[in-house]
Amino acid sequence: MARRRQLYEGKAKILFEGPEPGSIVQYFKDDATAGNGAKKGIITGKGVLNNRISEHLMLRLQAIGIPTHFMKRINMREQLVREVEIIPLEIVVRNVAAGSIASRLGLEEGTRLPRTIIEYYLKNDALNDPMVSEEHIAAFEWATPQDMEEINSHALRINDFLCGTFQAIGIQLVDFKLEFGRLWEQDEMRVVLADEISPDNCRLWDMNTSEKLDKDRFRRDLGRVEEAYQEVARRLGILPESGNHEIKGSEG
Ligand code: C5P
Repeated sequence: MARRRQLYEGKAKILFEGPEPGSIVQYFKDDATAGNGAKKGIITGKGVLNNRISEHLMLRLQAIGIPTHFMKRINMREQLVREVEIIPLEIVVRNVAAGSIASRLGLEEGTRLPRTIIEYYLKNDALNDPMVSEEHIAAFEWATPQDMEEINSHALRINDFLCGTFQAIGIQLVDFKLEFGRLWEQDEMRVVLADEISPDNCRLWDMNTSEKLDKDRFRRDLGRVEEAYQEVARRLGILPESGNHEIKGSEG
């Protein structure tokens, strides 16, 4: 098959020029990295599962009025998205202490936070994505105060919605990372949700057993990584009917 022009290759996805101006094809790889690329591996079938899971969640978020870059899924590993100007921030939303906030503040993993906390990190691999404040963001003009108002309000609504969605299938949403982009339509600019929402960038714990159903299984060498991603897809009701062997197929 003739390949479209590659625009960018990230750690988990490749972006290709889309079929029409203003569109991009997002290709989901099986590659997994942790610790800013220090640890590398392959999670077989991850790209297929994340493509489906992210499609499902983006469509549900659109249905409650959250603007996103998602247009449609094209095949097992690719989705068509709108081309946006990515705001160079990672927005992390936390409900329960885990990962970096637990080590940074000496909190026991699993402790519910007194309230939902939003953190900002600068997207910069060379600097290891440092945490930044709204002061830094405004001073260095990575985003305007107006952008930040929209980002914060979308992030909290997304959190409420995803907490409910996962709770309904017996999963606790501990924390997750979002990225936003600027989308111009005629003269109007909107801040829209971009990137993906999947077990790669969420912490998802089984509500009964506390079993981790996310990328921490890879980061912490807990084993059964593919199975965890499949379990999330299965509970969301989006595993292909024919079962796991289809997940392992690549291009389809
Ligand atoms: O490592 P940390 O505890 O700061 O991660 C918080 C949340 O953000 C986790 O759900 C993690 O999967 C996600 N994250 C991410 N990409 C990063 C850093 C964190 O998806 N570069």
